Amino acid sequence: MQAFFDDYVRLAGLATELVNTAPGVWHGEDQLSDPAALTGFLAEHGIDAEPATRDLDAVRDLRTGLREVLDARDAEVIASGASELAARGLGTVGLAPDAQGRQQWCARSRPDADLADHLAVLAGVGVLGALRTLGPERFRDCASDTCSGVFIDTTRPGRRRYCMPDLCGNRANVAAYRARRRATS
Ligand SMILES: [Zn+2]
Repeated sequence: MQAFFDDYVRLAGLATELVNTAPGVWHGEDQLSDPAALTGFLAEHGIDAEPATRDLDAVRDLRTGLREVLDARDAEVIASGASELAARGLGTVGLAPDAQGRQQWCARSRPDADLADHLAVLAGVGVLGALRTLGPERFRDCASDTCSGVFIDTTRPGRRRYCMPDLCGNRANVAAYRARRRATS
C-alpha cells in the first residue's frame, strides 16, 4: 500500500473516520464490531481486504493510538505521535506516478506489514500532511454536546464543526430547535 503525501485530505479523512468508529463516540457501540464491519469500513475507503479477527484487534489498537494523537492538539506531540504510527508499517519513501502520471512523493508500507500497520502508514501520512499544511488548530472536538468525536478539518475555509457533519450537525440542530421551542412555549 502506498500513501501520496499530497493526498493528505483523503488520508486525514480516513484517520478521522477510523477514530470515530470507536464505542466511546457511539455511546458504547463499536462500529467495528466484527471483521465484516471492518471490511465494509475499508471498502468505503477504497481498500480491498479480508481482515481476520487478529487484524480487527490490531486495527482497534491503532484506533486508540490514533485518537491519542488527534487529542494531543500540540503540533510537536501530534507530529511525533503520527510519525511513530507511520513508522510501524513504513517500508520506503520515494516517488511514484499519481493517476495523472505525475511523479509524487509517497510512502510505501513494508511488504510484510499487516493490515493495521498498512493503515498506520496511511493515517500517519494523512495526519502529518494536515498538520504541515493546515496546522494544529485544525484538530478539533465535535461541536455537538452529545458527541465525543474528533476530526481534522481539511476544508478550505476551515469552519467545519462536526465529526460526522450529517449526523452530529443534525443532532445539534434538533437539540437547539427543541430548546428554542421549550423557551417560547
Ligand atoms: Zn460528532
